[in-house]
Amino acid sequence: MKHLDPRAPLVVDTRELGRRPGASQRTARTAPAPADLGSEVVGVPQGSDLHLELLLESVMEGVLVTGTVTGTTTGQCVRCLDDIERSFEVRLQELYAYPSASTADDEDVLEMEGDLIDLEPALRDAVVPTLPFQPVCREDCPGLPTQYGLSDEAFEEGAPELPADVDPRWAALARLAATSGPARDEDEAPQTTPQIEQQNNRKG
Ligand SMILES: [Zn+2]
Repeated sequence: MKHLDPRAPLVVDTRELGRRPGASQRTARTAPAPADLGSEVVGVPQGSDLHLELLLESVMEGVLVTGTVTGTTTGQCVRCLDDIERSFEVRLQELYAYPSASTADDEDVLEMEGDLIDLEPALRDAVVPTLPFQPVCREDCPGLPTQYGLSDEAFEEGAPELPADVDPRWAALARLAATSGPARDEDEAPQTTPQIEQQNNRKG
């Protein structure tokens, strides 16, 4: 078990609060964000400022910590890959049990180390579930401009215009069907954009 440093920015010393149920104490602090606060796509940059406004309340089993955490998340839009930066404010509530309390055996309850509280796990519980799985720069982000999966050469050879009603997801297939017809005679090819139907007719 790691030993907490009472001077660490995410460690709260409850000696001043005392253990008399009903006692409460407000505390505010700014702490550097710990590492890996977030997921692979979005998270709080390590070392960036986290502002914590907390109310510590002495209860029978331990100390109840409630309050808010504000900070900034950074990530990347899953559609256009642009960088995203967002400020956030989340509620935090966590019960820290005295080491001697019966709840200390419960794995879901965080335990105090003597009079010290480690805020980091509470911080993770509060912040990480609020982060989006698939962050977007804005709700209607159109994503990267698509080339329909064809090379530039295919365009230079005069890839046909697609009918406006072709689903973009099928566009690559439609273009291939239009440009890969067998034995296309360039001399007889019409100057206008070839149509899929014309290609098929010539085959037969
Ligand atoms: Zn985007």
